[in-house]
Amino acid sequence: MVSLRRDRDVSPPIGSDALNAARRARELQALADGESVDVLVVGGGIVGAWCALDAASRGLSVALVERGDLAQGTSRWSSKLAHGGLRYLAHGDVGVAWESARERAILMDVSAPHLIRALPFLIPLGGQVDRAAGAKLEAGIRLGDGLRAAAGTSRRRLPSLRRVSAKEARRLAPGLSDRQLRGALLHWDGQIEDDARLVLDVARTAASYGARILTYVSAERLHADGASVRDVHGDGGGFHLRARRVVNATGVWAGELSGGAVRLRPSKGSHLLVPAAALGEPRAAVNAPLPGSGTRFVFAVPRADGLVMIGITDAPYDGPIPDEPAVDPDEEAFLLASIGRVLERTPTRDDVVGRFAGLRPLLASDDASATADLSRRHAVVAHDGLVTVVGGKLTTARRMAQDALDRIAAADAGPCATHRIRLAGWDRPQGDLATQLRFATTHELALTVDDLLDRRTRLGLVPARRDAALDAARAALATAATA
Ligand SMILES: Cc1cc2nc3c(=O)[nH]c(=O)nc-3n(C[C@H](O)[C@H](O)[C@H](O)COP(=O)(O)OP(=O)(O)OC[C@H]3O[C@@H](n4cnc5c(N)ncnc54)[C@H](O)[C@@H]3O)c2cc1C
Repeated sequence: MVSLRRDRDVSPPIGSDALNAARRARELQALADGESVDVLVVGGGIVGAWCALDAASRGLSVALVERGDLAQGTSRWSSKLAHGGLRYLAHGDVGVAWESARERAILMDVSAPHLIRALPFLIPLGGQVDRAAGAKLEAGIRLGDGLRAAAGTSRRRLPSLRRVSAKEARRLAPGLSDRQLRGALLHWDGQIEDDARLVLDVARTAASYGARILTYVSAERLHADGASVRDVHGDGGGFHLRARRVVNATGVWAGELSGGAVRLRPSKGSHLLVPAAALGEPRAAVNAPLPGSGTRFVFAVPRADGLVMIGITDAPYDGPIPDEPAVDPDEEAFLLASIGRVLERTPTRDDVVGRFAGLRPLLASDDASATADLSRRHAVVAHDGLVTVVGGKLTTARRMAQDALDRIAAADAGPCATHRIRLAGWDRPQGDLATQLRFATTHELALTVDDLLDRRTRLGLVPARRDAALDAARAALATAATA
């Protein structure tokens, strides 16, 4: 047993969704003292968070350990879309597209309507997209529309595809070039307000079912009966955390922890952020087709914070997995030039105010196909007395967790209930930055300045905004320490 730092106990009783330093310290100490749990989840990204909620809502006792903060890894570097799976349809992968459409419906209607809105997308017709290519794209989107309807998402939630005139397209996205513009396909998909917040809200909901959400606790080795863990926020002490079942949900790091039982072929995706004014204040996302590919686009997606996100690249990534991948200059040049093909004015490096990249935890396949075409399917692999769950995407993570827990839950555990659970967070207080930062320390387990600026808020996406908020973040943590 190790000694773990005890913070003053001001936390609410178990059953609350409030997460804070005191609750973390108390729950960690109990586990270090020998308390055991039914299920240990390793990894606090979207998949681990859903696993914790799935297990806890089946009535199992749960601990989740994450070596950094919640959403420390890939889950905060996504394009923040709740996809219906159009790309997969284009590759004939109807199963993955159907799963995406169903999970999008659950996210939009049940779990997180407070975080997801309908986003219009324009595909400009003309130039790169001749009449035959336009007709093919239209047929694919109509098929996706059929999946939307079959999955139960109403047209009021996500309208059906429409062809619009060049004039209407330019009204929705004034920066669109009118060179050769014949009109556009207008279709809709789900936009997540923030991916890190989705992870947080799932984790807080799991906490309300009694799950112990333990950030800054690293799993050094996994065993069939638990894991050797270390508290990297406290005194650095380690202990054996006892669990009847272990789920490895460490995303792109899962290969290492699975001891080679799972092989991944990570793919890097990069995004840029530019002020909306640089692209004519678009109200719709714009898809710019990539030359020579009928199914791949670079998109410019308007966000609620006055920025437009330009993405995305998709290239195999070799070598050790970095904590925070960086956007390379050639990726930046590629994204700017690609979106510039359909715009009046090509944005330049000087327009870019932020950039971020992530690594997709794609399952390796035995052929040498490009990562852009690798399946976004997920896998639940049993090995060495534990299970690894990996692959998939943000949109399908709830289903991934269901499959993982179905595999390990004892016969006396309840059935999966997560498709019926509304996530915590819908009633989060609004208000100025100081109020939100304070709430993050009392209810959202923010323990550091980085937690506040890079994950509870996303000010860190734009370095200038981050710098401006540093003092406020330090003040919020100082207040929390003396409360
Ligand atoms: C650029 C990009 C864009 C994307 N866009 C979309 C999109 O728009 N829509 C969509 O649905 N999907 C999207 N995806 C896919 C989606 O983001 C990922 O599939 C998903 O976030 C992976 O979640 P995860 O929980 O498996 O991994 P992660 O989020 O990486 O979580 C794994 C966690 O495990 C932790 N960990 C690692 N090792 C240990 C250890 N030893 N002990 C404790 N903790 C550990 C890490 O710190 C990390 O927090 C995108 C992916 C990328 C890269």
